[in-house]
Amino acid sequence: MFLHGTSKINSKGHLEIGGCDVTDLAQEFGTPLYIVDEALVRQRAREFMEAFRTTGLRHQVAYASKAFCVMAMCRVAEEEGMSLDVVSDGELYTALQAGFPAERIHFHGNNKTPEEIVMALDAGIGCFVVDNFDELHLLNALAADKGKRVNVLLRITPGVEAHTHDYISTGQQDSKFGFDLGNGTAFTAIETAIGLSSLKVLGVHSHIGSQIFEVEGFRMAVEKVAAFAVEIRDRLNHTFTVLNLGGGFGIRYVEGDQPLPVGVYVQAIADAVRTTCENANFALPEVWIEPGRSIIGDAGTTLYTVGTSKDIPGVRKYIAVDGGMTDNPRPALYESKYEAVLANRANDTLNELVSVAGKCCESGDMLIWDLKLPAVQSGDLLAVFCTGAYNYAMASNYNRIRRPAVVFVKDGKADLVVARETYHNIVGNDIIPQRLQKEAVSK
Ligand SMILES: *Cc1c(COP(=O)(O)O)cnc(C)c1O
Repeated sequence: MFLHGTSKINSKGHLEIGGCDVTDLAQEFGTPLYIVDEALVRQRAREFMEAFRTTGLRHQVAYASKAFCVMAMCRVAEEEGMSLDVVSDGELYTALQAGFPAERIHFHGNNKTPEEIVMALDAGIGCFVVDNFDELHLLNALAADKGKRVNVLLRITPGVEAHTHDYISTGQQDSKFGFDLGNGTAFTAIETAIGLSSLKVLGVHSHIGSQIFEVEGFRMAVEKVAAFAVEIRDRLNHTFTVLNLGGGFGIRYVEGDQPLPVGVYVQAIADAVRTTCENANFALPEVWIEPGRSIIGDAGTTLYTVGTSKDIPGVRKYIAVDGGMTDNPRPALYESKYEAVLANRANDTLNELVSVAGKCCESGDMLIWDLKLPAVQSGDLLAVFCTGAYNYAMASNYNRIRRPAVVFVKDGKADLVVARETYHNIVGNDIIPQRLQKEAVSK
């Protein structure tokens, strides 16, 4: 059985997460429901923190909040001693509303608006990760207006391509993100930034991709980034104090996935930093990383109720659940694969091969192809695993489907952390102009 963290099958043959029987959760909160195993989130965070502690390097582990950004999650990240990456005013607002310490917030993104920058300056965030020349000058001007000098890292594209799905690799040269290292743009950017008086250049940032299962890409990125740091020291007499190696640490979505333990990635990065810096006689910088998926991904499970089915003899059997691409667009976007169980009859023999469809008006709205389940009946509960990252975060209201609730489960208790959307939420921003109102027409 494919189970993570505190998940298990209880004596009734029901899936249990965080000590909560998911059939009870379905009763209490309805479906679809995102269930987050809080103990597992904390465990993952601690694995990163602990791995760094053993390296002896100064460090920050910034949770990439875009993976799952809600206020309760920001609280957990803070309690676990993590920093926080945001990429928009909405994520920044969420973090600030949750009381997350501004000085531990890092602002990413390739097109930060002036309003977003001002909001972050006013909040007093810890660092801007600057993506391009326009932003360098804009940030410098806006910081100067406020009489501030702000910490920046410059995002560089080191020309390292991690082995992953094309759509989610960002370290190669042809990317919308960052200053290119290979063609000298990154050097010019640092030279420019050093000359801007309201910016304090701490160092550089690189993010080579997502769902990475090997350390080689990180090692190569460290070598390139460290060599660049040495070049900047030698040619511009400026010493980086921070190297940020980004996120992208892989997780196990399906049986065949073999991610490395978190500590192995951290150790490899730390070793590479130490070795390259010692060889170049470069003072050991602070090392920052930005895990998103690997903090929250496998802690999330989506619970659905099965509705209809369609058997096409000799072709396949579809079963349809009460959610779909609205709560999990990843299969449609990336052909992502997931494992699932029939949560109310988890010990029953797997004697049917089915494909799990969503309820949206879109043929691509499929969650899982060819899944082995017990003979499925309408009303059964299907639990899809590893949906913690980029599911709620990417959820939409397509077909005006209401976004599901999110619960944190821990030690037999379930706490609602995001309420299910209401019909009022669905029409809440709609406006019928006077001339289209029914009363106006009848008058
Ligand atoms: C998306 C992203 C991350 C997090 O990636 P994961 O694969 O979720 O770990 C970290 N840093 C940057 C710059 C990103 O764009």
